[in-house]
Amino acid sequence: MRKLIIAIDGPAASGKSTAARLFAKRLRYAYIDTGAMYRACALAAKEAGIDMSDESALDALMDSISISIKHDSDENKIYLNGKDVSAAIRKPEISGLASGVSAHATVRNKMVDLQREMGAQGGVVLDGRDIGTVVFPDADLKFFFVAPARVRAQRRFDELIMRGEDPSFEDVLNDMIARDEADSSRTLAPLVPAEDSIHIDTGALNIEEMIDLLYAHYLKKVQAK
Ligand code: C5P
Repeated sequence: MRKLIIAIDGPAASGKSTAARLFAKRLRYAYIDTGAMYRACALAAKEAGIDMSDESALDALMDSISISIKHDSDENKIYLNGKDVSAAIRKPEISGLASGVSAHATVRNKMVDLQREMGAQGGVVLDGRDIGTVVFPDADLKFFFVAPARVRAQRRFDELIMRGEDPSFEDVLNDMIARDEADSSRTLAPLVPAEDSIHIDTGALNIEEMIDLLYAHYLKKVQAK
């Protein structure tokens, strides 16, 4: 049976990454964290001292860097110019910078090409903002995750505490709202649900319930084929 391309889009901390990773594991599919790729671009720009609004410097940067994901194991490992930056890209500062850098056409074109190359054969779950609308508009299954802002901010806050950071809840909430607003209102590939996406409110679901729900949709899809 042909393996599917599965898209999971949604705002920050809506549970996409955890669900996409575990769902891919359950299906024995590859998981691709596309947000990590934009985060790696942001880290590259930061290290090069480039302002997120400097279009021509970003264009030159994108010509000179390599980004790759090792996506065959449980965790995605992300490499920038051959160096593992998986931990460095999770800093709160990088979230905002990633949102800035991802509004640029050169950055998006390069990342979308890479994502299509990695997912073209199917057997893949990708999570991001534009997977079902731009990267794979013909994906076999498209999910759009939503959850109340406070629930999402609490998830991100707990994650940061676990990583040894010391954030304030209000900062996490406000940064997240600002980032969602920027991602939803940008001209290129804004965060909007694909028309044919299945909306899932993850606010009241635990992770097992989430995966079971995704799996039920998957079964319905493969049985209909
Ligand atoms: O998913 P994550 O929070 O790691 O994504 C970081 C940022 O990367 C997002 O706020 C968004 O601006 C950008 N992004 C994007 N398109 C994707 C995935 C992420 O623009 N497919």
